[in-house]
Amino acid sequence: MTTPILLLNCGSSSIKYQVIDGDSEQVAASGIIQRIGQASGTLDHTYQGHDHHLDADFADHAAALDQLVKVFAEFGPNLDEVRAVGHRTVHGGEAFRSTVVIDDAVLDKLRELSPLAPLHNPPGIAGIEAARAVLPDVPHVAIFDTAFFATLPAEAYTYAIDKDVARTHAVRKYGFHGTSHSYVSQKVAEVLGRPYDGLNQIVCHLGNGASISAIRDGVAVETSMGLTPLAGLVMGTRSGDVDPGLHAYLGRVLDLDLVGVDDLLNKRSGMLGLAGATDFRDINSLIESGDADARLAMDVYVHRLVSYIGSYLAVLGHVDALTFTAGVGENDALVRSEVVTRLEPLGFWLDAEANAVRSKQPRVISRPGSPVTVLVVPTNEELAMARETMAAIGG
Ligand code: AMP
Repeated sequence: MTTPILLLNCGSSSIKYQVIDGDSEQVAASGIIQRIGQASGTLDHTYQGHDHHLDADFADHAAALDQLVKVFAEFGPNLDEVRAVGHRTVHGGEAFRSTVVIDDAVLDKLRELSPLAPLHNPPGIAGIEAARAVLPDVPHVAIFDTAFFATLPAEAYTYAIDKDVARTHAVRKYGFHGTSHSYVSQKVAEVLGRPYDGLNQIVCHLGNGASISAIRDGVAVETSMGLTPLAGLVMGTRSGDVDPGLHAYLGRVLDLDLVGVDDLLNKRSGMLGLAGATDFRDINSLIESGDADARLAMDVYVHRLVSYIGSYLAVLGHVDALTFTAGVGENDALVRSEVVTRLEPLGFWLDAEANAVRSKQPRVISRPGSPVTVLVVPTNEELAMARETMAAIGG
């Protein structure tokens, strides 16, 4: 390993990490710390094909990273060799349009942005602070979920609300999952052997969270997530789009405050709310067993997705490639088939046999001659983050 890069993805109670060699792009080590701030924490670490498991309580992100340092010292790799740390940062607001090297001023600005992403940015900041304490002598870099969508035109990112309220409180569409949409769309250009800036693309990132983007000539012009990652497609536990009037109505009939409604829409809605399950493997089993709620949930999910794709086709005028990625997009042939079959009249011709193949490789799943090429491309946000970190440190 010549340029080991440590990548951290800090959630409220977990830290996912990888060490990737920035030159060979090989993964050297990976792992996850779970249940931070709760009882019965765990740390799972993999290095050189060996898995290590540890049970311990971690009071906070700093304690978790202290433990991680000990695990690296005992099992490898050598943390002293790490050349930079890349931090996944959910919300860059209007301040950060691309990856930045973190200094105290950047941290202050990130703290200011926390109200925009109260669930996501505070744990990210805690992770940055803890990692800078543990590795003070290497550059730390923030990679933003929102950055890829900094190019959205004003007509796409502006909400039709009081313009002074919007300006004062930075209310606009930001978009999320940008690292994935960027990585996947560039991979599509590679697979098709065409220049990135000559392609119009629609990318469906369908994981537990889900979002879709429209990319014109290599520039993001639309996406389904908004001010927060609640907007757009139906997700595992998130509603996606609802009537904005729903908040006031539910507040009244359920006697909930706005935080209660937000909680309902973020944590108890989506596939969980409709079908009682978030994992599409469970939803598919329920559908097979004749469960009507699961069937309806799938129909709603597919209908929403098809509606967005149709809308983005209209926005772009012409689409070269439609791509599925993330947990559901990469693995669930049924979702892909239901979506693309409905789009057949619009020039998306599914190859049912190719769609049924299970693979970890990028692949085309449309028939030869299809006006739009349909693909499955596994996302790799850590690799994309490693590349961003390398670029930021001039590696
Ligand atoms: P992600 O957020 O990208 O990690 O995606 C996680 C989601 O992917 C899970 O909640 C499942 O719904 C879905 N998923 C993972 N593996 C499969 C599979 N083999 N078949 C269908 N869905 C899957």
